[in-house]
Amino acid sequence: MSESKYNQFENAQTQFDKAAEILGLDDGMKELLREPMRITQVRIPVKMDDGSTKVFTGFRSRHNDARGPAKGGLRFHHEETIDDVKALSMWMTWKCAVLNIPLGGGKGGIVCDPTILSKGEQERLCRGFIRQIYNQIGPNIDVPAPDYGTNAQHMLWMLDEYETISGGKYPGTITAKPVGMGGSLGRTEATGYGVIWTLAEALKIKGIDITKTTASIQGSGNVAEYTAKKYVELGGKVTAISCWHNEDKKVYTFINKNGIDISKLMSVKNSFGSIDKAEGIKLGYEVFEGDSKCTKWLEQEVDVLMPCALQNQITPDNFPLIKDSVKFIAEGANGPVTPDCDELIKNKGIFMLPDFLCNAAGVTCSYYEQVQCNMNYFWTKEEVLEKLEKAMKDAFKAVYEVAKEKNLYMRDAAYVIAINRVAEAVKLRGWV
Ligand code: GLU
Repeated sequence: MSESKYNQFENAQTQFDKAAEILGLDDGMKELLREPMRITQVRIPVKMDDGSTKVFTGFRSRHNDARGPAKGGLRFHHEETIDDVKALSMWMTWKCAVLNIPLGGGKGGIVCDPTILSKGEQERLCRGFIRQIYNQIGPNIDVPAPDYGTNAQHMLWMLDEYETISGGKYPGTITAKPVGMGGSLGRTEATGYGVIWTLAEALKIKGIDITKTTASIQGSGNVAEYTAKKYVELGGKVTAISCWHNEDKKVYTFINKNGIDISKLMSVKNSFGSIDKAEGIKLGYEVFEGDSKCTKWLEQEVDVLMPCALQNQITPDNFPLIKDSVKFIAEGANGPVTPDCDELIKNKGIFMLPDFLCNAAGVTCSYYEQVQCNMNYFWTKEEVLEKLEKAMKDAFKAVYEVAKEKNLYMRDAAYVIAINRVAEAVKLRGWV
């Protein structure tokens, strides 16, 4: 779904090749790990409300499952492509490995715009997709979850279809379900909180007091919302938030140098996570209007930039717009920085919190959800968040140690740890 010149899968392979070089991986291992092991493409016929039938295309990519069942989200986006899904499945492998959870990498997507589908049409699409990929998923095979454009309700419809076909209850087949229906407490907040737990560690290492920092955030979806909330809770000030408006087809950037009241701004989101310009003005914010390439959020005089929306948002073309005040980039989204921009970020001395470390708390909480589902016994929110915070901080410290010891960029250090773990599992299984 990248409308830019960047191909997401090529980006993922470029990053992998660089790390493989650092690690001196042999050719067979490289060949195996730079491509998904299995890709499925399906056609999903859906009866529309007006009586017509529409046929949607869906994908599921299983990149690698040497460390455990594949795990990863499912996207609904009108420009979804197989290459996006392949890249994202590859990043899931590294994400699970860097957090050291016993899962592999998978990802799926359906080419559709959920914002123009009725509830009934969305349900039939979810169920139709599961009918097509039923044999390829399951608690011990490949475990979907939400991603861009999907939510807990979609997951529950999918699980219900899976259980209807299989004739049993298998709640560990899909994660991030509604709480009370097999979902884990803390899953909603997990990804965003994790972004800030890792950022807080980085700030601590650099001797910076979080309460004296400011941030600009791209996005207003689940990840952006809880990233912003946790950051403010720890004392940071969010001075700008930008979001795509699904009806107006515009990007609005809400600015307040004295700090945005996150709960208030998020409370006026529509069901697709968009915030109206008029609502922003009513709340007293300066609102800047732009097209889909709008970089207003990037041009802010802040300490931290947190891209929490989509891929390919920080590129060599817009990099010069970043102010000298920026010292940290925390990648809440998957792939928001293009590989050709990493060198510029590194040379400018900006501390990078790479996506598959920084946003890994979502999948880690999904793993806890699976564990709870398998036991049919659920933990308190405090218990979940406490485990999660420790897991994220430990993973950050491990990556930072490797970066320091080997003088590597944080992204490369995270790759070194993740690829080593996956390669080890592949070798132990005797695949290579
Ligand atoms: N879609 C999320 C991610 O990219 C979560 C995946 C999951 O929970 O399995 O990490």
